[in-house]
Amino acid sequence: MRETMMALVCKEGGALALEERPVPLLRDARDALVRVTLSTICTSDLHIRKGAVPRAVPSVVLGHEFVGEVVQVGDAVRSLRPGDRVCANCITFCGDCWFCRRGYINNCARGGWELGCRIDGCQAEYVRVPFADAGLTKLPGGVSDEAALLVGDVLSSGYFGAQLAEVRPGDRVAVIGAGPVGLCTAQCARLLGASGVALLDIDPDRLAFARAHAACDLAVNPREEDAVRAVRAWTGGRGADGVVEAAGGEGTFSLAWQLARPNASVGIVAMYEKAQTLPLERMYGKNLTFRTGGVDAVHCAALVEWIAQGRLDTRWMLTHTAPLNRILEGYHTFANRLDGCIKWAVTPYER
Ligand SMILES: [Zn+2]
Ligand SMILES: [Zn+2]
Repeated sequence: MRETMMALVCKEGGALALEERPVPLLRDARDALVRVTLSTICTSDLHIRKGAVPRAVPSVVLGHEFVGEVVQVGDAVRSLRPGDRVCANCITFCGDCWFCRRGYINNCARGGWELGCRIDGCQAEYVRVPFADAGLTKLPGGVSDEAALLVGDVLSSGYFGAQLAEVRPGDRVAVIGAGPVGLCTAQCARLLGASGVALLDIDPDRLAFARAHAACDLAVNPREEDAVRAVRAWTGGRGADGVVEAAGGEGTFSLAWQLARPNASVGIVAMYEKAQTLPLERMYGKNLTFRTGGVDAVHCAALVEWIAQGRLDTRWMLTHTAPLNRILEGYHTFANRLDGCIKWAVTPYER
């Protein structure tokens, strides 16, 4: 095996560089070393670049969404062997602390968002994954890298969002944000039995993309029409049975609760850059439930199973694919939403 590899590093101040780095070594008996076969760029990577993630450390290798092949495991790893194909959870978690035992892995006492934030991530040829038994999910032969790529982050977030909104069979669900997480949320709402999904976004290209892939039953641009009225008309006048806010934009938080019918659940998966206000005096009697969260990505095995059964498919969201050599171009295209980019997938470095 090689001793060095190429890796995308985020320097202090946010500059990116594709650099030669040592191939990581195992540090703990529960670690695994994974050869990355496909990774992506995520909006959270852009947040690190902007300096909006205080826990991020300088000169870290970015990336937390990937699939790969296990090449080495520590002595305490039980469920994985070299050669296994795996997808990775974006959250590092131990699997046995108080929070992990209850499925609240986002608040693991010994983990959190580590990969590509506090420790070197997956926009590289190899990555060291701590607590490998907890954080890696084996892929069956019938599930391709492309099909499994989003499982550990945006698809988990979409499923989490649909759960926060307590989607039940027959519900009409409104999802704010037609980016990768919103598109995954729409799919998961259908998986949970929603009879209709409305997607709302101010970007006409994203709505057109969603429509072209039949990702929603109603597409609404709040800049072009009264979104609350449109969703009410679509729900027989009552409002959405569940709402997921996956945009985090100007005014999207207040739009979320205004779209909801009385007694609905509003799930907030968006990351805000500013404080939001909850005008309780205006919603008194509407009897809403609000649930917020960073993804507890504990359903990776189930998501992989649903993908294998053909009940979930996110391959069409990978609008761009290029080798690690071109990742700087990928950041530019993804960050500026050029060329209709929804997800930029990264294949291994080519020598
Ligand atoms: Zn992410
Ligand atoms: Zn834990």
